[in-house]
Amino acid sequence: MENCEQNLFGRPPEPCTEDVKDTLKNWSRPFEPRRIIANIYYVGSNLISSFLIVTPAGHILIDTGHVQMLPQVKANIEKLGFKVKEVKILLNSHAHFDRCGGFAEFKRETGATVIASKLDGDLMMRGGTGDFFWDDASLYAPVKPDRFVADGDRVELGGVSLTAHLTPGHTKGCTTWTMRVNENGKDYDVLFLCGLTVSLYKLTNNAEYPNIIADARSSLMKLRGMHADVLLAAHGFWFDLGERQLANAWALPIPSSTQAN
Ligand SMILES: [Zn+2]
Repeated sequence: MENCEQNLFGRPPEPCTEDVKDTLKNWSRPFEPRRIIANIYYVGSNLISSFLIVTPAGHILIDTGHVQMLPQVKANIEKLGFKVKEVKILLNSHAHFDRCGGFAEFKRETGATVIASKLDGDLMMRGGTGDFFWDDASLYAPVKPDRFVADGDRVELGGVSLTAHLTPGHTKGCTTWTMRVNENGKDYDVLFLCGLTVSLYKLTNNAEYPNIIADARSSLMKLRGMHADVLLAAHGFWFDLGERQLANAWALPIPSSTQAN
């Protein structure tokens, strides 16, 4: 089981397929939606993130999770008192099934503008086919982004401004998003980390992704130079979602209750 868990984002070995499904199920359990800070809300599952950013001009959603998770995300948005139909922009961290598998259906229902990086947008348009690692083993309904963003581009809505930072390696167009919020008179830099996992990939002589090492290295260096008061990420275990919600402490550093454990 342990190996199967580790291989969830790798090509699942045949004998482990059921275990991989179990792992995905374990990552997709309901999680009480909540406000994180200022106008940013968590609407994902226990371990697959989806973030809602609320503005007076409509809302921005970062990732939907996989398509089976979509009803949960939509219910979470409504449970918080917001309208799914008021989501105007759908942002992507990266074009894997567990991040944008619900995009086609969500866009069909809401007409939201889909925004992604060029390289991951290409993968999204192919519904995940020909992924440099997954090949055709992890597919989803294809979506054509309405807008492609390059490094440093901004997405703006209702007074909110998000900046795209290309942090490739986990995917070729992995996009980390940042924004600044104000709460109780204090500014906070919020960073939505795309993902850094490359350990399962072929790192040398990778004909499908020759620049993988250079990309992963430069992404690490870039992130090292960025400032974050609030670190959020595509999976809950990357930012201690469970501990943070218990402590209701979202700004860095890690809450002392967590450090004591
Ligand atoms: Zn991924």
